[in-house]
Amino acid sequence: MLNGKVAVVTGGTRGIGYATVKKFLDEGAKVVLFGSKESSVAKALESLKNENNDYEVTGLYPDLSDIKSVEEAFDSIIKEYGKIDILVNNAGISARESLYDYTSEAFDNIIDLNIKAVFNCSKVVAPYMKENGGGVILNTSSMVSIYGQPSGVGYPTSKFAVNGMTKSLARELGKDNIRVNAVAPGVIRTDMVAALPEEMVKMVCAQIPLGRMGEPEDIANAFAFLASDSASFITGAILSVDGAGMC
Ligand code: NAD
Repeated sequence: MLNGKVAVVTGGTRGIGYATVKKFLDEGAKVVLFGSKESSVAKALESLKNENNDYEVTGLYPDLSDIKSVEEAFDSIIKEYGKIDILVNNAGISARESLYDYTSEAFDNIIDLNIKAVFNCSKVVAPYMKENGGGVILNTSSMVSIYGQPSGVGYPTSKFAVNGMTKSLARELGKDNIRVNAVAPGVIRTDMVAALPEEMVKMVCAQIPLGRMGEPEDIANAFAFLASDSASFITGAILSVDGAGMC
């Protein structure tokens, strides 16, 4: 599906991002994964190489909320690979504090990673894609971007913004043959969900019509489709991958 493509996946060291990196590699792409620190990037690369030594995968750990750091990272990728066909803005953190306990600092942190990093990476990659005749930007939204969430208000707020950026950039960048879409995962078995109270997870899973929690690979498969030429007329879409569950 992705033979010859060069992809960047932020938050690629574990969970949904790691599964997406692996799926893209299995589909023939060369991938640069981003993580938050050197050690987690090294661990992810080692694990991927153990799975398949032929994978063409490297890693970087720019500060995604700092445009200079993002520019340096993408410049180095262009120097190495000559182009970037696919960007997956996946790095994200969640929140579940009540409004009464929610600090302004915590709100800033979530906005910096879940929104500003998406802006920074999209802004920096788009000119390269345009110059190369087009590309694909994919964002990780969430089902809370549809329903909201009864705690941790910064998290659903950030994902509503991701949807807004997805739809707006799709309209702006279509003329440059850059497609922009998002996947809105439901409850997916990753560290992010492992941090939730067991009671809450059980309650959420009980009303998922497909009767199970999603796996990171369920989201990776959706990303691979949206990144591929099979999705050549799809842009501005927010694809729910949630087993029809609601939170
Ligand atoms: P995870 O915690 O397993 O992985 C998060 C990734 O983000 C990691 O690779 C980590 O290195 C990266 N990251 C965290 N802080 C960072 C920082 N400051 N700078 C750079 N990178 C940083 O989480 P996940 O469940 O795989 O989440 C991935 C995406 O999926 C997030 O955007 C999340 O909001 C979204 N999502 C997850 C679920 C779910 O149920 N797991 C549901 C809906 C949406």
